[in-house]
Amino acid sequence: MLRTHTCGELTIKDAGKKVTLSGWIQRSRDLGGMTFVDLRDRYGITQLVFNMDTNAGLCEKARKLGREFVINASGTVAERSNKNPKMTTGDIEIIVDAFDVLNESLTPPFTIEDSSDGGDDLRMKYRYLDIRRNPVREALELRAELAAATREYLNSQKFIEVETPVLIKSTPEGARDFVVPSRMSQGEFYALPQSPQTFKQLLMVAGLDKYYQIVKCFRDEDLRADRQPEFTQIDCEMSFIEQEDILQTFEGMTRHLFKTIKNIEFSSLPRMTFADAMKNYGNDKPDIRFEMKLVEMNDVVKGKNFKVFDDSELVVAICAKGCSEYTRKQLDELTDWVKRPQIGATGLVYARWNADGSLKSSVDKFYDAEALKQWMANMGAAQGDLILILAGEKNKTRKAMSELRLEMGNRLGLRNKDIYAPLWVIDFPLLEWNEEAKRWHAMHHPFTSPKPEDISKLDSDPGTVRANAYDLVINGVEIGGGSIRIHNKDLQKRMFSLLGFSDADAQAQFGFLMNAFEYGAPPHGGIALGFDRLCAMFGGVESIRDYIAFPKNNAGRDMMIDSPSKIADEQLKELGIAVTQSLK
Ligand code: ASP
Repeated sequence: MLRTHTCGELTIKDAGKKVTLSGWIQRSRDLGGMTFVDLRDRYGITQLVFNMDTNAGLCEKARKLGREFVINASGTVAERSNKNPKMTTGDIEIIVDAFDVLNESLTPPFTIEDSSDGGDDLRMKYRYLDIRRNPVREALELRAELAAATREYLNSQKFIEVETPVLIKSTPEGARDFVVPSRMSQGEFYALPQSPQTFKQLLMVAGLDKYYQIVKCFRDEDLRADRQPEFTQIDCEMSFIEQEDILQTFEGMTRHLFKTIKNIEFSSLPRMTFADAMKNYGNDKPDIRFEMKLVEMNDVVKGKNFKVFDDSELVVAICAKGCSEYTRKQLDELTDWVKRPQIGATGLVYARWNADGSLKSSVDKFYDAEALKQWMANMGAAQGDLILILAGEKNKTRKAMSELRLEMGNRLGLRNKDIYAPLWVIDFPLLEWNEEAKRWHAMHHPFTSPKPEDISKLDSDPGTVRANAYDLVINGVEIGGGSIRIHNKDLQKRMFSLLGFSDADAQAQFGFLMNAFEYGAPPHGGIALGFDRLCAMFGGVESIRDYIAFPKNNAGRDMMIDSPSKIADEQLKELGIAVTQSLK
């Protein structure tokens, strides 16, 4: 028998028992007469003890055990004299009477401890060692719990789990496709799904009524901390429903997950229109854990000969409560911060309402105390507050102010990761103008239905048409998004044409969907939640990589298996592919 117990379960109640444990050597301490060895498995650590006086041969052998050796040891559970109250097994040790080395190990390239000395790339290269560390294993355990709770909820709601194919053709979710060359049809390619969007809609035409899948999606995009080229979605679709049904169902799921995993309860989730989110937070994924809303200042600042404000489409401010005593240095630093290219503001204007009642701004030349009072009134500011103002083109300025708001939220400790503030953002625009391509893009995807009352504006004023689309946002992170779909062939055709597809292109790419719509497509809609992001959010970290067993680095590379990599000439030949250019 390789083990009778795990390394995480024996306690003082087991004293006197004969046991066998298996695991890895965490560390060993040779104290002359005694050798102590910490044996680790997934469940914990148990101390093994060897005594020179009672069994010199075995003790000598134990002294040779190196870190990460795999052993199997038998002995008797005994009370420890030196107890460790921090460990479940801290009251006992095993007096070993025999052990076998099941496998030796090279010295690991970094320490297998809670906080490791290994850098990112090294840990990724030896990810199988990294996963032996508690925080990484715990992240994967949390992920599994979340997946189980998700299935539990969706199964209870009569959703059917269906797998959809991975070798498909392009799904337009707004990113570049990963493609796979076909050997049997040389010169032709599969695309990996950016999402199962069209398949789940076809499953609704097929009458499955409620579908879900915890599914891999693939998008060839530039990577950031919260993006991976392959990632996982909780993908869902429902028939004979309206937007309200989806919001209710997935609000239910959100509640179920928070209750099950974190024991946090929510009343119903607030809803905010896209227009309000942009106006008040400068962002379609507002972090509503804190107020500090954007306030438009155009009416109170214009016409005082300050050219910067007079010439700006939008002058917008936030009020940092209790920050009137920010030093010159802090303000200069904030000014530099907003001027960084990532934020892109041209400058920062401030005004403070000092504790002594006086008012002071960085533009005193143009605005007297009376004017500043008006600003403060407009902001709802109080004595002791600081207001920060940005000006410029509307969308750019809102975006920059949103960043500054989040930064101030961080600096003031208003973004506590243990507080969760979910909400729905609704009524997204159907389309967004792409200045580079000089054409409309679908803001969500081309299958999203316009609000019926806005359809008449599709030709005359497409930019103002709102969609039946919604996002689930938690703490400033877009956790999921979806829409009610178009289920009418003519409307879908019209949508493709608005997006610049010729009839022939639309037919070639999405003919299968439009044909399906000829055979009785039910009204339907759905949502997909970013599962990796959800895990990271529940784990209280920003990077989704921690929650993926084998993630890729920022260059899209798997450091462990060293992929992407070249393939053999023979394979290329079979595929009918010639590589003409290689950057390496
Ligand atoms: N397929 C969409 C996405 O991946 C989600 C949806 O509309 O259901 O974002």
